[in-house]
Amino acid sequence: MSGQIAIVGAGPSGCYLAQTLLKLAPDLKVDLIDALPVPFGLTRYGVAADHQGTKAVTRQFARIFERQGARFFGNVRVGRDLSLAQISSAYDATVLAAGLSSDRPLDIPGGDLPQVYGSARLTRALYEHPDAADLPDLGAHPVILGNGNVAVDLLRILCKTPAELEGSDLGPGPTAWLAANNIETITIVGRSPAAKVKFDPVMVRELGKLENVHVTMEESEPSSDPEEQKKLQALHDLNGHGTGSIRVDFRFGAQPLAVEGDSQVTGLRVASVESDEIIGATSLITAIGFMSDGDLNRDALITKAATQQGGKLAERLYSAGWFRHGPRGTIPQSRTDVQDTAALILSELAIDPARTGATIFAELPNCTDYPGWQQIDRVERGQSLPGRCRQKITSIKKLINVAKQRGQKL
Ligand SMILES: Cc1cc2nc3c(=O)[nH]c(=O)nc-3n(C[C@H](O)[C@H](O)[C@H](O)COP(=O)(O)OP(=O)(O)OC[C@H]3O[C@@H](n4cnc5c(N)ncnc54)[C@H](O)[C@@H]3O)c2cc1C
Repeated sequence: MSGQIAIVGAGPSGCYLAQTLLKLAPDLKVDLIDALPVPFGLTRYGVAADHQGTKAVTRQFARIFERQGARFFGNVRVGRDLSLAQISSAYDATVLAAGLSSDRPLDIPGGDLPQVYGSARLTRALYEHPDAADLPDLGAHPVILGNGNVAVDLLRILCKTPAELEGSDLGPGPTAWLAANNIETITIVGRSPAAKVKFDPVMVRELGKLENVHVTMEESEPSSDPEEQKKLQALHDLNGHGTGSIRVDFRFGAQPLAVEGDSQVTGLRVASVESDEIIGATSLITAIGFMSDGDLNRDALITKAATQQGGKLAERLYSAGWFRHGPRGTIPQSRTDVQDTAALILSELAIDPARTGATIFAELPNCTDYPGWQQIDRVERGQSLPGRCRQKITSIKKLINVAKQRGQKL
């Protein structure tokens, strides 16, 4: 089956969808379009710098371009550089797999104080996303609000010693920032009781290997649920770990009520089982979920969709990944998640030979392609500093310039 399909977003969901479509119908033309000059979405800019095993999934994604014939068109922000209507009229089907890149706001009094930082903002800065704001001063006592894996990722990175970051791709700026931090205490606060936290027990056990921490928490009520027991056991084993200089205090079942402070965060007021309490803080990091940046009118598209079966939004328009489901699910889960969308697209595909496909990118002089990404990848690996596996190029301009040298040997 031939036909031209545009996937907006070259993160894990877009890549797995392209892989599935091309496996089912190898003659399709599948084009992955991304706002950034580089592919792979949060695998590059969200997954923690010290989790290179997780990032290795990009080797699978590379095969989609190198063996299955998918094409990459980078530095094209749909909704700004080209409209969704333009993409849609050029392709037989369009899939929005653009993720959710903004932080969900903390909707309590004081939630907009300047020292309240969303985890998307902080991870982008740590992992050198080209649009990132500067890394902030967290002070001696940041509080992390959230009980999911993103919260644990941030906690772990903030506590790691330089030796523990060996082999990562953390850049020199963020490395220096971590070394200059004067963190004495990190309190990690979650609404749910310990048994209901969303942390993966594997992630909790990893905290038990950190050198520079001492961990404290209240012992929790037991549970009869086997999954909850695994979490409680991992937390129980972690309690009391270490004699390092950073105190890590876990607080469960604490409902945030207000961020305290006038112009400077001084604490987080929480309601816990017994009474309200203020946890002292110099900054607050929220890891409470993500939302769309608005470029693609996600909310309106979802509201208007007659049925969202298979991720369908409208005729010839579909959605996948976090854009479809919200900020839930891991990279491996994206793979199974896209299967119904791929099947639906193929069952509904009506090919119109008049559709122009990728020629619409011809008018964009700084659009990057897959060989350009391979060149960026080579340069970044080639310039990595001792103890690092990569040094990212951090500006859009430089990424584009390097992509344009494609084919050159280092
Ligand atoms: C901080 C963090 C850490 C994580 N760590 C892990 C982990 O260790 N292991 C794990 O399995 N999962 C992890 N996850 C979850 C995982 O990242 C997601 O499951 C996965 O990235 C979702 O894929 P996606 O393709 O839907 O979105 P994304 O990965 O966000 O990809 C979306 C892509 O769309 C592009 N885009 C956005 N808007 C536009 C536009 N208007 N036009 C064109 N392109 C656009 C973006 O540039 C991006 O490349 C983590 C998530 C976060 C936030």
